[in-house]
Parts: sequence; structure tokens; C-alpha cells
Amino acid sequence: MNQGKWQIGEVTVTRVVEIEATGGMSRIIPDAKRELLKEIPWLYPHFVDENGRMRGSIHALIIETPDRTIVVDTCVGNDKERGNPPWSNLQTTFLSDLEAAGYAPERIDNVLCTHLHVDHVGWNTILVDGKWQPTFPNARYLMGRVEFEHWTNVDETGTKQVMSDSVLPVFDAGLVDLVETDHKICDQISLIPTVGHSPGHVSVLIQSQGEEAVITGDFIHHPCQIVHPEWPSAPDSDPEQGLKTRHAVFSRYADTPTLIIGTHFHTPTAGHLKRDGDTYRLDV
Ligand SMILES: [Zn+2]
Repeated sequence: MNQGKWQIGEVTVTRVVEIEATGGMSRIIPDAKRELLKEIPWLYPHFVDENGRMRGSIHALIIETPDRTIVVDTCVGNDKERGNPPWSNLQTTFLSDLEAAGYAPERIDNVLCTHLHVDHVGWNTILVDGKWQPTFPNARYLMGRVEFEHWTNVDETGTKQVMSDSVLPVFDAGLVDLVETDHKICDQISLIPTVGHSPGHVSVLIQSQGEEAVITGDFIHHPCQIVHPEWPSAPDSDPEQGLKTRHAVFSRYADTPTLIIGTHFHTPTAGHLKRDGDTYRLDV
């Protein structure tokens, strides 16, 4: 079990990994060719391996405030039939790893999906006696209203499968609150709209005792996009808006003390944005 833990004032963020993998990212960011990555020495060895292959991670980030525990993004999940073979019918120890980290499912107050893609909603549900049941029975699940309305109307097999096994069962159980992209969850935690990757995509802003962190979600998949904001992620629904979002976030947080925690960044997963010539880098 590979974890990370960060303290932001009174708030802790704990990473629980479902899958860490090398190589798959090149399909997500096709512009990130090996020879171009080679020109960015700080990506090695954490984010690109010695053979020039990008490293990535699928993990949940658990935010604990003095009075609330929030799971941000719920990975791929077990037992789910998926078109992408490495994600189909997974049997990982994610849930027991979550519990071992101190987060039994009953303890979770909120589940937040930054967006409703397949690798962000999986552990919303578990298979019990052949039925998809909410994994976190005492949680309110927060999903973007725009996001939910968009994906419920997409007539495509893969999307329908994800919605029917990982989103609609919690909705039908009455556990979903549809929220706006600038929703404030509690004193320390609010959403910031970072659309482009998907129509209602959000990032998460944590503020406590003068300290600050941002959980990215998927407006960026890999730290190479910090140097090259113009490299889109293949699944971006609006690449032009995705580019605008990356520029806006990078210029907002560069050279500030705000910790950037990546939703798909390989260990060490978090760092600080710095201006670097006419672009940016991540200091880890
Ligand atoms: Zn993702």
C-alpha cells in the first residue's frame, strides 16, 4: 500500500492508491513523446521512468477536517466490466487499504466526484449479492449538476455502463446532492470550476489556518502538462477550454505557497508550482 499524507492547517489529506502504472499515460497525452519529455529533466525519476515512459496513479484523496471526512474521487472499483481491459473486473484491495488508513466506509461523510469519468466513480458502489450498493452508506455523494445532466444524456455503451453501475445506484438510493461548480462544502473546503476536461469538472480548494492546497482532478493528468499546458488530454471534452483552464490555474498558483496535489500524479503526487522561463514547473 503506497500512501502520501499532507497537512494543510487543521486539515489532512491522505492518498490511498488503487493502481500505480507506467506507460498507459502516453495514450492519454499523445503529444508527450519520449524525446520531448527528455527535455524536462525534473520529471525524472518520479514522473517518467528511465526508459522514458510516463508514470501515473489512480488514487483517492481523503480529506479530513476537524469535523468531516471527504473522499475525493473513487477510482475504478472492483467487479466492473469495462471496455478498457486493464480496468475491467478489477479485484484490488483498495477498500481494505482505505480502512487500514483509518477510513472505514461508515466513517465517510461525503464522497466528491471531481467529474463522472470511469476512474473517478468506481468505488461509489460495491457488488453485494449481485446488486450495486453504495459503498459509503452514511455519506452524501456530491456530484456536479452540469456533470450529472451531461453524462445521463450520453447515449454511448461505455458511459451507460459506468452510469448504471457506479452513479445511478447511489442516485436512486437518495444519497446524491447535485452541486454547482463553485460549491462550498464546509469552512475549509470548496470547489473551483476547472472545466474543459469534462463539462462540469471541478478541482478542490482546501484552506485552513492560512495554508492552502488544491486537488487538481483531471484538468491535468501528468506534470509534463505543467511545462506544456498546450498538450491536451485525449478525453478532454473541450480541449480549447482545457488549455484555458490549465493556464488560469498555473498562473494563479505559481510562486505561491499553495500545495498542488495531483489526482493522477505518481508518487510523490504533490508539489508547488513555480514559474520557469515562459512556462512552469512542479517543485516536489
Ligand atoms: Zn481520471
